[in-house]
Amino acid sequence: MSGVFDAPGEWLRGNLHLHTTNSDGELAPQQAVDGYAEQGYDFLSITDHDVVTDPDELDSRGMTLLPGVEIAPPGAELGQTIHCVGIGPSAEPSTLEADTAVAAIGRLVDLCEACFVAHPSWSSVTFADILPIEGIIGLEVFNCTCRRGIGRGLSEVQWDDLLARGRRLLGLAVDDAHRHYDDLYGGWIMLRAQDRSPDAICEALRAGHFYATQGPEIRDVTIDGESLHIECSPCVEVFAVCPTPGRGTTNWRHGGGRSEQQSFDLQLRPGTDPFRVVVVDAHGNRAWTNPYWLD
Ligand SMILES: [Zn+2]
Ligand SMILES: [Zn+2]
Repeated sequence: MSGVFDAPGEWLRGNLHLHTTNSDGELAPQQAVDGYAEQGYDFLSITDHDVVTDPDELDSRGMTLLPGVEIAPPGAELGQTIHCVGIGPSAEPSTLEADTAVAAIGRLVDLCEACFVAHPSWSSVTFADILPIEGIIGLEVFNCTCRRGIGRGLSEVQWDDLLARGRRLLGLAVDDAHRHYDDLYGGWIMLRAQDRSPDAICEALRAGHFYATQGPEIRDVTIDGESLHIECSPCVEVFAVCPTPGRGTTNWRHGGGRSEQQSFDLQLRPGTDPFRVVVVDAHGNRAWTNPYWLD
């Protein structure tokens, strides 16, 4: 059960995937930090390819800066690399040479506070590639630069395929901004942490105390038996998506796309487990809760 709306603490807005001139991005690290601070973000991780940027070398501008890195070991089914982001690495990823992508990501998992698979759609990484990877917290359900670059920013299908196979994976939205085009501030997570320290943020990440968004706010989700109540910023559609097969109709839709509402009620069918909630605003922007497991 994802308890973000009951979790104690404060809401924090953050982006956990970003490139700078330390790899193939166009903004210097401090420029990137300045921009996110001016947008009101609370935490940020610079995750350059194969290199960790030391947050202590930067003026945090009041945000919590988490060290991070992205690796891309080869070995996906369709011939691509499997990109994986690690937050809070305790060593440089140059120590990560391994025979297989699964082993390389396993080494990253051992070094980091939290790891997640980046942009499955952009990489043509399938559920089968991710299924054997242990220790990751989840995957990017939305990646802004992949959306704005080639239109492959959404990875809901891969997420559901993994959930349907019993993997308890969380969904993140990120920018992965490089500034090759307009890819800043388009995807983020809203996280509830006990405080703003890196430890508290990583703990909340691992606990799934966040939701992912392109803009809409999800304010509350309450479950009473099979009744689901959702409160959000003005939206036109809400879905409760159940990836488990054999339940008949597994998607519910309410609102019909006709008028904006800030509260929605859905009725779950018996046996709908797990499920996740998606809200959609009038511009088509989405927000995704983490899955609810009812056991
Ligand atoms: Zn990547
Ligand atoms: Zn990246």
